[in-house]
Amino acid sequence: MRSVSIFGATGSIGESAFDLLMQSGGPETWRVVALSGGRNIARLAEMARGLRAEIAVTAYPELAEDLEAALAGSGISSAAGPQAIVEAAEMDADWTLSAIVGAAGLPPGLRVLERGGTLALANKESLVAAGRLVMGTASRNNARILPVDSEHSAIFQSIGSDNLENIESVTITASGGAFRDWPLEKLAEATVEQASTHPNWAMGQRITIDSASMFNKSLEIIETQEFFRISPEKIRVLIHPESIIHAMVTHCDGGSIAHLGAPDMRHAIGYALHWPERVELPVPKLDLAALGSLTFRAPDETRWPALRLAREVMQVGGAAGAVLNGAKEQALDDFLAGRIRFTDMSAAVEFALDDLTSDRSFSTSPADLATVLDWDQRARQSAAAWAAGNRGR
Ligand code: NAD
Ligand code: MG
Repeated sequence: MRSVSIFGATGSIGESAFDLLMQSGGPETWRVVALSGGRNIARLAEMARGLRAEIAVTAYPELAEDLEAALAGSGISSAAGPQAIVEAAEMDADWTLSAIVGAAGLPPGLRVLERGGTLALANKESLVAAGRLVMGTASRNNARILPVDSEHSAIFQSIGSDNLENIESVTITASGGAFRDWPLEKLAEATVEQASTHPNWAMGQRITIDSASMFNKSLEIIETQEFFRISPEKIRVLIHPESIIHAMVTHCDGGSIAHLGAPDMRHAIGYALHWPERVELPVPKLDLAALGSLTFRAPDETRWPALRLAREVMQVGGAAGAVLNGAKEQALDDFLAGRIRFTDMSAAVEFALDDLTSDRSFSTSPADLATVLDWDQRARQSAAAWAAGNRGR
């Protein structure tokens, strides 16, 4: 029986993974070790009971008693707090899904890699903030990372066993998010509610807003570079409003291999869950005749400065990824709280990058978790300072 753990089980990716496990036999097929969640204790307990997990962990220490009460009589252990999540990641599981949102996903993911486990990585922030550290930890410990982000799963599947040297370019697609057709001058007035609706994908609120600002694609460009070790000039972005082609690999002989599928994350999660096998998955099959046409456009960097920032970050390397990610998380918090406007998010991130670039160690890749988290904190402070200084303009 294969054993699995899910960190961020109660989120959008976690729910899709739960669905896949339940539809393939649940606790009769899988030995579920640990599930983690946040404030939704009722759902976390329900999932843990449904999968007969060994332990359920909430990120919030103040909810420890609630979780214990919700699991009473089930025989399932409970724990609470960030450190308890890291300890649960230490428990032996054959396959672990990293589906916490934000830099908070980094510590448990690293712990899985340190014990040589297999990490199915939805948490792209880990690779953006600490690509060198994450990939180095994996290779030192013979651990495996399987991409779960749909574009990266698509690249992984399209590359197959091809030689990386024969790859001329890799193209990741973007739907364009909620505001792809808005007049530029209206963008500054976009509300949280408007930014929280995605044309094609049902996802957590933070990544949905990141899709509207194109910061999601910005993170994914860096994720591509870090995970596949593909040089920045070979990474392209293409706006593809239908979200059917997820990525495309173009070879030196002029041919391209693309990966197509319905916009349903259960494909990428299921592919990673069963890899290297392929199994039938409960996802809709494509009907291209019914779709009729697929369309494409070049991305517009005036509309989406986040794309330019990703290029600058890749050029600098060092701590730039950690700063971009931390500042972006802070800017998103500030936008959600109504402290800054939609278009201010990229300005705050750019400010933080400029602000911290003069630090002597900025060009050095953080070599350990503490250094990554330190840059993350400084980036948040810098972006917050920008927001405080520009409030009410
Ligand atoms: P979500 O907001 O729906 O769920 C996040 C999960 O993380 C929840 O279980 C929540 O309780 C938990 N969590 C939140 N803050 C936490 C903290 N500080 N400590 C511990 N746990 C915490 O997010 P999502 O949309 O499922 O995305 C999860 C990750 O997967 C993100 O990194 C996202 O970029 C990536 N991803 C998501 C999708 C998607 O379709 N949703 C696609 C590709 C990649
Ligand atoms: Mg993606």
